[in-house]
Amino acid sequence: MLLIGAAITVALAVACLISLVLYEMRQDALARAKDAVENLSAILERDIERNIEIYELSMQAVVDGVKNPNIFGLTSDTRQLVLFDRSSNAQDLGSLLVTNAAGDVIIDSRSVPPRKANFRDRDYFDVQQRAANAGLYITKPTLSLGNEPSIALSRRVEDARGQFSGVVVGTLRLNYFRRLFEGMTLGDHGSITLLRTDGTVLMRRPYHEQEIGRSIASAASFKPLLQGNKGCFIGTAALDGDRRLYGFKHIGKYPLIVVVGLGTRDIYAQWRQRAWAIGIITGVLDVLGIMMAVGFAKQFHMRLKMEEQLRVLADTDSLTGLGSRRALDIALDVEWRRARRSKQQLSVLMLDVDYFKEFNDHYGHVAGDNALKNVAHCIFKNIRRPGDFAGRYGGEEFCVLLPNTELAGAVQVAEAIRQAVLETNQLHVTGPKGTLSVSIGVATFDGRNTSSGVNSEQLFHRADQRLYEAKAAGRNMVMPQHIEPQRAVSRGLISGRVS
Ligand code: GH3
Ligand code: MG
Ligand code: MG
Repeated sequence: MLLIGAAITVALAVACLISLVLYEMRQDALARAKDAVENLSAILERDIERNIEIYELSMQAVVDGVKNPNIFGLTSDTRQLVLFDRSSNAQDLGSLLVTNAAGDVIIDSRSVPPRKANFRDRDYFDVQQRAANAGLYITKPTLSLGNEPSIALSRRVEDARGQFSGVVVGTLRLNYFRRLFEGMTLGDHGSITLLRTDGTVLMRRPYHEQEIGRSIASAASFKPLLQGNKGCFIGTAALDGDRRLYGFKHIGKYPLIVVVGLGTRDIYAQWRQRAWAIGIITGVLDVLGIMMAVGFAKQFHMRLKMEEQLRVLADTDSLTGLGSRRALDIALDVEWRRARRSKQQLSVLMLDVDYFKEFNDHYGHVAGDNALKNVAHCIFKNIRRPGDFAGRYGGEEFCVLLPNTELAGAVQVAEAIRQAVLETNQLHVTGPKGTLSVSIGVATFDGRNTSSGVNSEQLFHRADQRLYEAKAAGRNMVMPQHIEPQRAVSRGLISGRVS
């Protein structure tokens, strides 16, 4: 039980320790993922900011250029060269257009003469017209540039007196962001989103056309994006319902936010695999440990039981069921010491069947054995106290130990046994009395008398001597210690008849 308890305690301790280690590993995985989304959002922010900045600088150059009244005096080719640098012709950029205050296109970076169009009704015109300080305005996604989704960027153009004189507007293909996002390494459930600060989705990886231009302003995962210039949080995606760890960053001074999400499934995938492996191994080892402990405990228990059985066998006389000679020797020693220690009396009865050799000779050994069993039974049923002990000394001789019993009491017990044997009426036709009888010698050690000097062997020897005296005095009798047969009879201590 103790062994099993110890094994279970160790198994629980190991399980707790492993759980703690696994928990730490999980936290590490989350910390690494946090670093990853923060770094990725920072890298994307820098790239996007730089590109918009370059585009904005090109637009600024146009804004500055058209303020100069001489610019319209130049030939159209020279004017194009003065106003538009090469960056405005980059891959994902559309043409830069300048309108007058009425919204009519007056300069086109890619066409001389400019295309015929009016932008008066466009939001990017309206915003710049109404506010002098609108800065760079970025529109929602629209289909332009040959039906490709793009965003338009506009700046206000003022004349030399500071009056609104039109806008400069350029388009940027959203494909630029799509390529940029797809170049990043993300897990299977990762996402990258570029949003306007009003919640409009400009680009998203994974790319789904219908999501471009949608607003997630009302989603729970949008609100944290406005709570700082950058940050990190775990949330559920408004667009696909996946749970992700998000890192976001506002793009420079522009009203844009880039959000990088790593699927929590991806973050913990490796950890989960290891946790399963470690968990299973630990579980198996724990179970094995407990099973081994149970096995050991069972073996140990069986061994104890077998030893107990062997001890009982060694201590029991197989014929009569009384104590064996070995048990008798031990009990005599123990009881003698106890009597001496607790200053009590210990009586010993030595019992021998009368003329048993002749009984055997006449009735045979099997009958002899049965007769010995009957004698043993007579002894057994007459010793009633818990400490009393009866053993077979050898052959047809028995010994009874009566702890805390004085001589008179021992004689009474001996007499009861002698009487009980007689009452079995076991025929013994070759015996002098016709039935089976026993002779008993009684000796008592007085633990109260420290000067008595009698040891256990001597006590036993005295009882044996009394037995011989009983035999000599005619058998079928109880002979107590130190009392002559005649006196004993006269005191009623000797019973039975001399044959
Ligand atoms: P007494 O004691 O009265 O002087 O005579 P006795 O015939 O009993 O004397 P003794 O002690 O010499 O004989 C003992 C006999 O008991 C020897 C043997 O025949 C018999 N005996 C001893 N042990 C056993 C036993 O285990 N079974 C049987 N059947 N007989 C036994
Ligand atoms: Mg004998
Ligand atoms: Mg005998």
